[in-house]
Amino acid sequence: MKSIVQPTKKQRRKIVLEILQQQNRIEDYPYLIESLSPPQDITTLAPVGSGKNISIGIIGGGIAGLSAAFELRKLGFDITIFEAEKKRIGGRIYTHYFDRHKKYYGELGAMRIPISHEIVWHYIDLLGLKTTPFIQSTPADLFYILHRHACNDSEGQSVMENIYPAFDLTLREQKTPWIQLQNNAINPLLRKLSPKVRKEIIEIKPQYHPEIIKLDQLSFRNIFEKAGLSLGAISMLGNLSPLIGDFFYTSSIELYSEIYTLDFFSLYRIQGGSANLPLAFYRSFFDSNVKKYYPNIPPHLLGTIHLKNGHCVEQIQQKIPCGPVTLSSKNIENHSIHQQNFDYIICTIPFSTLRNIQLCPAFSSEKMQAIQELSYENSFKSAQFYKERFWEKEDIICGRKLGGSSATDYPLTSLWYPSDHYQYLNSPYAPPKEPGVLLSTYNFTLDATRLGNLPYNQRIFKINRQVEQLHALPKGYIDNILLDYVDINWNNYPWSLGGFAYYRPGQKNTFSWIAAQPEYQNKIFFAGEHVSGKHAWIQGALKTGIQAANHIAKDFIVKK
Ligand SMILES: Cc1cc2nc3c(=O)[nH]c(=O)nc-3n(C[C@H](O)[C@H](O)[C@H](O)COP(=O)(O)OP(=O)(O)OC[C@H]3O[C@@H](n4cnc5c(N)ncnc54)[C@H](O)[C@@H]3O)c2cc1C
Repeated sequence: MKSIVQPTKKQRRKIVLEILQQQNRIEDYPYLIESLSPPQDITTLAPVGSGKNISIGIIGGGIAGLSAAFELRKLGFDITIFEAEKKRIGGRIYTHYFDRHKKYYGELGAMRIPISHEIVWHYIDLLGLKTTPFIQSTPADLFYILHRHACNDSEGQSVMENIYPAFDLTLREQKTPWIQLQNNAINPLLRKLSPKVRKEIIEIKPQYHPEIIKLDQLSFRNIFEKAGLSLGAISMLGNLSPLIGDFFYTSSIELYSEIYTLDFFSLYRIQGGSANLPLAFYRSFFDSNVKKYYPNIPPHLLGTIHLKNGHCVEQIQQKIPCGPVTLSSKNIENHSIHQQNFDYIICTIPFSTLRNIQLCPAFSSEKMQAIQELSYENSFKSAQFYKERFWEKEDIICGRKLGGSSATDYPLTSLWYPSDHYQYLNSPYAPPKEPGVLLSTYNFTLDATRLGNLPYNQRIFKINRQVEQLHALPKGYIDNILLDYVDINWNNYPWSLGGFAYYRPGQKNTFSWIAAQPEYQNKIFFAGEHVSGKHAWIQGALKTGIQAANHIAKDFIVKK
C-alpha cells in the first residue's frame, strides 16, 4: 500500500477499508467508523452563545483539556484552564527540540497517528497541520536476542534461522514463522466475537457482554498459553514484539483494543513534531482571526479562554450540594494559593495525580476506588542527537534504516529510526548526509523502571553500549558522534506519575464505567485517555474531551 503524505478523509476511509479487507473482517468497518469519528458537535446540543456568564474550570492543559476548551468555546462559556507546567502545554504530547530551528527533535511522548484515529485527523485538518508517513517497520529492522542477530524479512526466515535455535521450541513451532505463531494465538479469540460484541472492546459501558468480560480476565500471556504455545515460544515472541512482551500481565483487552482499531497500520506523524497539535489548539485560543476555526459562529458569541499555566490544582471542593465547585491552585513559582469558583469542572488529569489532590467532600466510594486502583504502566524514552546517521549507512547490519524499529532482549527493548528520510525508502539515491535523532530507547513497565531509574551517567553509558551491540558496532563508536541526549521516565514525571492507564485483568469490567461518571451532582466531569476506551492514544483523550464538553452542554441547557 502506497503511503500518502496528507490523506484526505476519503483516502483514509479507503485505506481503513483495504486493511480490513486484507484482514478478512470488513464487517467491522461501520462500527470502526462510528466509534472513532468525532462525537456530535456541541452546537447541536445547545445554541451558540448560550453559555455566556457560565464559568468552567478545566484541570489539565493536555490534549483532553485543550479539546474540551476548544469545543466549549462554541457556546460562549467563560473557560479557565489550570496547567501545572509553566512553560509547556500538551502533557504527554512532548516534543524535545535539539536545535533552535526545530529541525531535529525527539518525541518523548506521543509520536504516531494511526490512519483510523478519525478524531485526531479531524483536528489535524481543522487546525491546518501537516503530516507525513511514520514508518513502523521495514525489512532492515533488526532483532538482537540472546546475543543473536536477525533481520526482519517478510517471511520471517532470518528469525527462524538465527533466533529460533536459541529457544526451546516444539517441532511445530520450529516450522512456523513467528508472525504466524503470534497471529494464530491472538486472532481466533477476536474472530469468534460477533462484530457487535467486538465493538465493546473500545466502548465504555455499564455492563459488557459475557465474552468481553472473559477476554478482560485474560492477560496477554494467558492468550499465548491458551493457544498452547511453549514457554520458549512465549518468551521468544515477547522479545520479538516488545509491545506484547512488556505487557504480558496486562488485560488482553488492551491488546485487542489496538488490534481492533488497526493501531499499527498506516501510521503518520505530525510534521515538525507532535507538540504542534497542542500548540495549534493554544494558538486558536488567542488568535484574533477566529473565523479560521469557527467559520459559522459570530465572534462575539464565542467564549473566552484563560490559561493559568504554572498553576497546580491542589484541592477540589464543593461547599454545598449542587453548588459551585472551588478549585484551589498553587502558583508553582511563588507558591501562592489561589481559589476560584466554577459552575462546572472538567477534570482531565490522570488518576495517578488526582490521587494526590484533596477532595472535599470525597467522590463516590466507587470512584475513589477507581482512582486508587486503576493501573498505570511506566514508559521510558531516550532520544539521541547524532552528527551522522550511522543507521542509514549502506554497510549497516540488515541494510540502511529509513524508519522502522529494532527490538532486543536488552533493557532498552526497542529503538526507533527517524522517518524523515522516508522518501528514499524505495529510491536508488542515498539520503543526504546530515545529523539525525534516534529514539534510542522506547520501553515499558519493568524495563522502563530498571533502565530509567539508573543514575544519569550510568543510564547513558548502558544505552550507548546496547545501541552499539544491537547494530554490531565497535565499543565506543557512539560516543564519538553523539551530540546531545534527552530522556524521560514517565513514572517520575510529577504531572502524570506513569506512562498511561492500562487495565490489569478484570479492570475494564470493574472500573471503566465508574471512572468516567460525573461527580458532585453533575458539576464535575472527567476526561483524559484514562477514562476512554482507547488508553495510551491521543484519540481516546480527544474523544473524552469532546464528550465532557457535550455533557456540560446537555446538563446546563436542561437547568437553564
Ligand atoms: C511514552 C508515550 C508514548 C505515547 N505514544 C503515543 C502515540 O504514538 N500516539 C498516540 O496517539 N498516543 C500516544 N501516547 C498517548 C498520548 O500521549 C496520551 O493518551 C495523551 O497525550 C493523554 O492526554 P490527556 O490530556 O489525557 O493527559 P495528559 O497529556 O497527561 O494531560 C494532563 C495535563 O494535566 C496537567 N496536570 C497534571 N496534574 C495537574 C494538577 N494537579 N494541576 C494542574 N495541571 C495538572 C499535566 O501537566 C498535563 O498537561 C503516548 C504516551 C506516552 C506516555
